[in-house]
Amino acid sequence: MSDTPATRRTRVVAVANQKGGVGKTTTVVNLAAALAERRHTVLVIDLDPQANATSGLGLAPRAGLSLYPALTGASDVADIIQPTPFENLNIIPAELDLAGAEVEIARQPDHLQVVRKTIDRVLEAAVFDYVLMDCPPSLGILMTSALAAADSVVVTMQCEYYAMEGLSVIVQLVQKMRDGGVNPRLEIEGILMTMFDARTKLAQDVVQEVRGHFGDQVYGTVIPRSVRISEAPSFGKPVLAYDPACKGAEAYRHFAKEFVKRAHARRATQAAAQSAAAAPAAAATAVPSPAS
Ligand code: ATP
Ligand code: MG
Repeated sequence: MSDTPATRRTRVVAVANQKGGVGKTTTVVNLAAALAERRHTVLVIDLDPQANATSGLGLAPRAGLSLYPALTGASDVADIIQPTPFENLNIIPAELDLAGAEVEIARQPDHLQVVRKTIDRVLEAAVFDYVLMDCPPSLGILMTSALAAADSVVVTMQCEYYAMEGLSVIVQLVQKMRDGGVNPRLEIEGILMTMFDARTKLAQDVVQEVRGHFGDQVYGTVIPRSVRISEAPSFGKPVLAYDPACKGAEAYRHFAKEFVKRAHARRATQAAAQSAAAAPAAAATAVPSPAS
C-alpha cells in the first residue's frame, strides 16, 4: 500500500493557537511525555524561537541547533534530532535564531511546503508514532508552515472570556488551508480546554459555550489550572516527571488516552475513505479493453 497520511506510521500534529499563553507548550511537553509513557515514540519539534518546549523537556537551547539549518538545507534533519532525558521522547530543539527562519522560508519558492519537505525524511523513516509541533503565538510563516506540514491541529484554549474570539480565527485558517489546497488533509484534531478553574462560574460557562459551538471537536478531558503544572518547566521536566501523581499529571495522562483513541479513529476513517476512492479506479483498470 502506498505511504499516505492514513497508512503512514507517523501522525503529525501541530499544537497551535495564535493567542499567547493558552497552554500550547505545556500541552506539547506533557502530551509528549504522556504518549512516551504509554510507549509511543514521539518527536517534539519546537517551532517557537522562545524555546519553551526545549527547556521544558530539560534541554538548554544551543546556538545553531534548531530546525532552521535543516530548512535551508545547511544540515540534515536527522542530525538535529536530540534525545531528551525521557525514554521514547526526542526533540528538534529551538533557539532564538529560529526567528530568522521566517525570512529565509519566505524567500523560498513554495515556501509553505518547506517544513513538510524538511521533515519528510523523518516521516519516511517511520520511527516515530507521533510528531508534535509546538507553534509560536502568531499567524506568521513558522506557524502557517507547521499547519501546511501537519495532518491535524490540536487547538488549546484557556477557559477565559475572550477565548472564543481567537478560536474562530484559527478554525477559519485551517479551513482556508484545506480548501485552498495548501494542505488538503488538514483537520482539527480537537480543541483542548486548559487552565480550568473549577471554582469559577466563568470557567464553567466558557467550557459550556465552546462545547455548544464546537460539540465533539472539544476533548472530554479538561486540563485544570495547577500550580504543579506551572512549576514543572523551571525544573526542565514535564509535570508527569516532576510530580507524577498530581492532578495535572493525571489530567494529561487522561488526555493522552483520549488523544490516541481519537487519532486512531480518524486514521481508520481516512484509510476507509482512501480505499473507497481507490476502488473505482482499480475496477476501471480491471475492465478489459474492448477488442479492436
Ligand atoms: P506562548 O503563546 O507564549 O507560546 P503557550 O500557549 O505555549 O504560550 P504555555 O507556555 O504552555 O502557553 O502556558 C502559559 C503559562 O501558563 C506558562 O507559565 C505555563 O506554565 C502556565 N500554564 C499552562 N498550563 C497551565 C495549567 N494547566 N495550570 C497552571 N498553569 C499553567
Ligand atoms: Mg509556547
